[in-house]
Amino acid sequence: MNLRIPGPTPLPPDVLAAVGQQMINHRGPEFEALFGETSRWLKVFYETDNDIYILTSSGTGGMEAAIVNTLSPGDKVLAVTIGVFGDRFAEIAEAYGTAVTRLSFPLGQAAEPSVVAAKLAEEGPFAAVLLTQNETSSGVTNDIQALAAVIRASAQPAPLILVDGISGMGAIRLQTDAWGCDAVVSGSQKAWMAPPGLAMVSFSPRAWEAYAKARLPRYYFDMGEARKYAKKNQTPATPNISALYGLHHSLKNMVAEGREAIVARHTHIGEYCRKGMLGLGLTLFADPAHYSNTVTAANLPAGFSASKVLEELRVKYDIICGASKAPGLEVIRIGHMGYVSDADIDQVCSALKVILGR
Ligand SMILES: *Cc1c(COP(=O)(O)O)cnc(C)c1O
Repeated sequence: MNLRIPGPTPLPPDVLAAVGQQMINHRGPEFEALFGETSRWLKVFYETDNDIYILTSSGTGGMEAAIVNTLSPGDKVLAVTIGVFGDRFAEIAEAYGTAVTRLSFPLGQAAEPSVVAAKLAEEGPFAAVLLTQNETSSGVTNDIQALAAVIRASAQPAPLILVDGISGMGAIRLQTDAWGCDAVVSGSQKAWMAPPGLAMVSFSPRAWEAYAKARLPRYYFDMGEARKYAKKNQTPATPNISALYGLHHSLKNMVAEGREAIVARHTHIGEYCRKGMLGLGLTLFADPAHYSNTVTAANLPAGFSASKVLEELRVKYDIICGASKAPGLEVIRIGHMGYVSDADIDQVCSALKVILGR
């Protein structure tokens, strides 16, 4: 099967084997070594000296953790959204009773820093700004560096910068410390090439200051508890040991390959996939200035239904691509993060060539 959805992603064979290891005591020395190394290796890709907490949940739980540990009821939050996952971040903040202002950009576009700056000047100060590094629903990567710069310059003290990096981290650079991101969330099943079930969240000193005052309810995702246990390389509750085996093994490989090499590999595969789609005469959904190197959204030609094309890819070719998340859009999405080769993309292109009669 050629699993080309933007997560979960296929596991390399050695990672798959690591996932199959026997269970161990999560309060014992083997676990502590596993957890400690995994935490340390994550920092290489997060480009941070901050602590990174490994939570047992999908990525959405990590987004919730970033909110409940830093904010209080009624706090003003600016949710900058460019698609489905930006909307989800806003919904979590709303569900917990913060005062959310949404700044939405059209699907397919990136957030424009000058528009964000104007909103901050008009309606600020905000306690926090929510950003998406890579909007998986539209195949767009935001310029987090530029967005973080205008947010930090907008007020004194600056709003907290909480970033959903779930479909970018480990493939697209994000300089957590240099850019001043206070919490950055990622998920094991995306570019990390590990099974679903772990969310990783970095937490800056400013985020910890906010934690001390934050009054939203929290229990399972209490970062103070996570910090207490992480000092002993443990977690407050039973962690997803199998996923951690996979993440640990994958990160070991990734550290050996090197951050720059991995980013370059994704730059290549992103370009390769876009070239393939354009070669079929398709147009791309995203703004060309902000193409994502982890997921490509392609518009189907008039007369083709995305659901039928996806069905044919699956049934006849054993290729699984993603649907558009927006109703009425005849768009297919091709994931190319983590364990993916040119040949995987070639297969998608050859199949589409036949299905679309190109
Ligand atoms: C996949 C994804 C999520 C949701 O992650 P889950 O692990 O399904 O909870 C959130 N944001 C982005 C950008 C994603 O790609």
